[in-house]
Amino acid sequence: MTAAVRITDKIRCPHCGGNLHRVTDSRPRLVGSIYAVARRRACAACQERTTTLEFCGADLTELVNGLLSERASRIAALRAELAELEAVQ
Ligand SMILES: [Zn+2]
Repeated sequence: MTAAVRITDKIRCPHCGGNLHRVTDSRPRLVGSIYAVARRRACAACQERTTTLEFCGADLTELVNGLLSERASRIAALRAELAELEAVQ
């Protein structure tokens, strides 16, 4: 099944500025305590892929704190993985 190609003035490709894209994946995501919709998009002009997060009526401070918390968790997980790899060598 091929996703529909959509034109929007609200979402621009960060690589080329194009506004023609198709959504290749869409799923709910919890950011901190806020529910969002994460969409994977492919630009029709340059083929680059980006992910957008869509929120509805979210408190921006809570949103930023949730994103920072996610990033801190990922960094901690990568550090733990690196420590395991170094212990093997
Ligand atoms: Zn593009």
